[in-house]
Amino acid sequence: MQCQTIQPGTECTFWAKSGCTFKGNSCHNVVEACVGCERIVESEIGPVCTSYPAPEVKWVGGLCNFATHQKIKIDSVETKVNPLKASKRASGR
Ligand code: SF4
Repeated sequence: MQCQTIQPGTECTFWAKSGCTFKGNSCHNVVEACVGCERIVESEIGPVCTSYPAPEVKWVGGLCNFATHQKIKIDSVETKVNPLKASKRASGR
């Protein structure tokens, strides 16, 4: 259903006939770590996230998995593979 309070007309899964069913009956404002993210939009209560109603929760365990401005760096480690041994392993020997 569509939000009727802080983002009127925006589709929201938390909006019900009784109103906003999210904790505190409203989205929460973005936190400092969110600054620069493309998912931030202005609302009646200030900047909020379009992907998650409680942005502070998304940063508790580290990087927000929806963030567009920061990415996880994954270092790949090259290992040398002996093609003869790899072939034997693949053949199930
Ligand atoms: S997607 Fe994550 S980083 Fe971006 S505004 Fe929402 S909570 Fe903040």
